Amino acid sequence: MGSRGKKLDGIDVEKLIEKLNKALADEWLAYYQYWVGSKVIMGPMRTDAETELMEHANDELRHADMLADRIVTLGGTPLLTPQQWYEKTNCGYEAPEDEWIEAILNQNIEGERCAIDVYRDLMNFVGQKDPVTYEMSREILQDEIEHEEDLENILNDIRTIKERFSR
Ligand code: FE
Ligand code: FE
Ligand code: MG
Repeated sequence: MGSRGKKLDGIDVEKLIEKLNKALADEWLAYYQYWVGSKVIMGPMRTDAETELMEHANDELRHADMLADRIVTLGGTPLLTPQQWYEKTNCGYEAPEDEWIEAILNQNIEGERCAIDVYRDLMNFVGQKDPVTYEMSREILQDEIEHEEDLENILNDIRTIKERFSR
């Protein structure tokens, strides 16, 4: 991208790149949490959940790709080591040590709620001063909102099944 495209009036670009890198760390950790979760998950509706978790993992990887491209365009460097994912993350990483479906879903729902906050914050930070980052964050936010909803729906289905069986 040329120098005119890089120049953003009224925005601290260094700080923006830092925020994008923090989100990048979140996306990689979310990717792995979903990916490994889909491998170890146990319990009712496991097969449906496995598919959903893998879809979400792929979405998170696509988000990481979008963020890294934006960072490079703005003249920054995407985090170069996995070590930095832990140092920079907003949302952290929850290892699926309890592989029961409800535990895994709840961990990932927490992650999605945090991701929703991260992209809302990014949108507020850039506002209309950087429409490209704004639009990218809006697009990712929409996916994260869907992710949270998908996982909540599976949890609700499990609850319904349990209620039926306990009658
Ligand atoms: Fe994401
Ligand atoms: Fe997500
Ligand atoms: Mg989904």
